[in-house]
Amino acid sequence: MLIGLPKETKDHETRVGMTPSTVKTLTRHGHQVLVQSGAGEGSFLADAEYQSAGATIVPHAEDAWAAQMVVKVKEPTPAEYHYLHQDMILFTYLHLASDKALTHALLESGATAIAYETVQTEGGKLPLLTPMSEVAGRMAVLVGATYLQRTHGGRGVLMGGVPGVEPANVVILGGGIVGTNAARIAVGFGAQVTVLDVNHDRLKYLDDIYRGQLQTRFSDEYNIEEAIYHADLIIGAVLIPGGRAPWLVTSAMLPNMRKGSVIVDVAVDQGGCIETTRPTTHSNPTYEVEGVVHYCVANMPSAVPRTSTFALNIQTAIYTLRLADEGLEAIRNNPALQYGLNIHRGAVTYPAIAKEFDMKY
Ligand code: NAD
Repeated sequence: MLIGLPKETKDHETRVGMTPSTVKTLTRHGHQVLVQSGAGEGSFLADAEYQSAGATIVPHAEDAWAAQMVVKVKEPTPAEYHYLHQDMILFTYLHLASDKALTHALLESGATAIAYETVQTEGGKLPLLTPMSEVAGRMAVLVGATYLQRTHGGRGVLMGGVPGVEPANVVILGGGIVGTNAARIAVGFGAQVTVLDVNHDRLKYLDDIYRGQLQTRFSDEYNIEEAIYHADLIIGAVLIPGGRAPWLVTSAMLPNMRKGSVIVDVAVDQGGCIETTRPTTHSNPTYEVEGVVHYCVANMPSAVPRTSTFALNIQTAIYTLRLADEGLEAIRNNPALQYGLNIHRGAVTYPAIAKEFDMKY
């Protein structure tokens, strides 16, 4: 199969869809890989490394996009919509439930779009979301600690406090992968941490491993309000797979929150779990509402592209190879990829996305 690897175009997106090691596996299987020149440079992966792995370096994005399968990291930006073409397979993060324009562009193109974030294995695991959630969860606390500094608009609170002065109060909404990784770093900083979730198994897991180093609470409106009104840092980490995130913190709650507190809404890529969330970029990551700093960058892991590119490829490579070897048959043969199929030849094939846009499924 002819496989294309274009350079990412989203603001500050410096990850790349395939490492030279993935390319080598593909070329060993007899596939041809077209790498847009400079695609890996944001992750400090040189064209020469891809060439040694068997890739052909092409000068323009359109050369890579003309392939039968295009492997990326982030969803196509509007400037890339015209590259979408019939019979191509697009394998990347898509987050369509919060992106009507892209959903329509994909439908009109006739392409087959497989979303990393909905590829699902047994037991409801999301293996291609996990590595970026691990990165974003750990980063969320580092980012939160930065914006809590007065010089960055925050309340001027040090995460771990100091002897005689209380630590920051960190509230994490959702105790899945993002939430657990955020909790790990926040506890490591010495913050006072509360995790809220609706899934009792997640709360039990966190309670078991942290043995009193953090508090767990069931996520309902009453408990959320009680927790956030005393929080310095709130991390939004909920997920309804393939669907839009629910608003757990409404705009009416904001005036009651601590002035200078910080919200890091990691769930922004699914619409955000805070009503006042709107997507921001690495160039302009924060804004303030009612004295509360909001950080809502939808591609947080791109700030640490080397770690993120390698972490992502460890998980995606096996599916990329299956798609390359078997084409669309791979979707029929592999239940995990079936879950990943969001759009196929002009039709939405994922129920939560169809529901979001009132479309036929
Ligand atoms: P996950 O499925 O592992 O965890 C989500 C958790 O939310 C689950 O434990 C679930 O029970 C919980 N939840 C659902 N409804 C809830 C509610 N009403 N109250 C409290 N908890 C609730 O998902 P994840 O991998 O941790 O991802 C979380 C979000 O972070 C997703 O939207 C994901 O796309 C996003 N994400 C964003 C970035 C970024 O750069 N901004 C990076 C990675 C992941």
